[in-house]
Amino acid sequence: NELAQHSDCIFCKIVSGDIPGAKVYEDEHVLAFLDISQVTEGHTLVIPKNHQENIYDLTEDDASHVFQAVPKVARALKQSFNISGLNMLNNNGEFAGQSVFHFHVHLLPRYDESDGFA
Ligand code: 5GP
Ligand code: ZN
Repeated sequence: NELAQHSDCIFCKIVSGDIPGAKVYEDEHVLAFLDISQVTEGHTLVIPKNHQENIYDLTEDDASHVFQAVPKVARALKQSFNISGLNMLNNNGEFAGQSVFHFHVHLLPRYDESDGFA
């Protein structure tokens, strides 16, 4: 099972282990790791291992794999942190705030009104 990888993509490099990532969850098709920015504590990104830019080219199979993993990751975050809520976000295209062009879902644990996220 060859993965489709993009040589100059930072998230593909995390998948391949070329650069480190703090892994939260992993299966055959999906990787979840802590976002380097930690907008809130536990801020996690869930990605397909295959390189796809964004929602416009995400395959049905990988959409399924990613969104099967999301609740598992959410439950793991709920167990690890004393969270009171969780936002799920996804940016597609530069104008929408996408800065890394490998599809990813942000899971943002929420704590209280002063947790740093609007
Ligand atoms: P976007 O703005 O594309 O929706 O989100 C990209 C996210 O990737 C940002 O929140 C940014 O902090 C995160 N990010 C960028 N480079 C790295 C990296 O090398 N490692 C990790 N763990 N996160 C990164
Ligand atoms: Zn990639």
